[in-house]
Amino acid sequence: MRIYVATRNRGKLREMEALFGSRGITLVTFDRYAEPEEGDTSYADNAALKARTLHDQLREAGLPANVLADDSGLEVYALDGRPGVLTAYYGGAGVPWAERRQLLLDELTATGSDDRRARFVCALHLITEVRREFTGVGTVEGVIAQEERGTEGFSFDPVFVHPPSGRTFAEMPDWEKNAVSHRTIAVSRLIGDLEAAGLVPVLPRP
Ligand code: IMP
Repeated sequence: MRIYVATRNRGKLREMEALFGSRGITLVTFDRYAEPEEGDTSYADNAALKARTLHDQLREAGLPANVLADDSGLEVYALDGRPGVLTAYYGGAGVPWAERRQLLLDELTATGSDDRRARFVCALHLITEVRREFTGVGTVEGVIAQEERGTEGFSFDPVFVHPPSGRTFAEMPDWEKNAVSHRTIAVSRLIGDLEAAGLVPVLPRP
């Protein structure tokens, strides 16, 4: 199965290639994909909007295809779930991520709260060439570090600590983050539904 992905984020793409590649699914990108302005209602709505946008753009280009989109974000409990669906815009689109991470650390300190819990959320939306639609959602719970650590991953990974190991996502190699991440959980749920629909072969149980 070959799927066009509606993303311009290299970090997300690399993770999704590893996750789908292990199931024999090839991900490709469309150079002319023009990303729509995201809404502030839900991850699922934004993922569906991005997928429908790319599906239409490909059809107009004479390339009807399977399309996948993801919308994700970071929810900090002491900030009432912000930045949430608006994470991509937190601190100003185009501002370097190091500054945006520091802004988050400063904002959390300014609350005076010692509750540093947070979670990443990911919603996926897949539209097949013949317009069947599938979704998958995943979350991973963690805590915001006191200061950033690690150089792997992207965006907020250096400040997101995964409690079982005590390390940030940026201190983990890809394979280790991919074993537990919100994106991985969303992908497994989506693939489960694709298997049930007979679109992806079911893996034999070990
Ligand atoms: P969007 O899905 O394009 O709206 O962007 C979601 C934003 O959430 C990204 O730009 C990142 O800031 C953040 N985010 C989502 N998933 C991750 C992750 O796995 N690591 C780090 N940051 C993430």
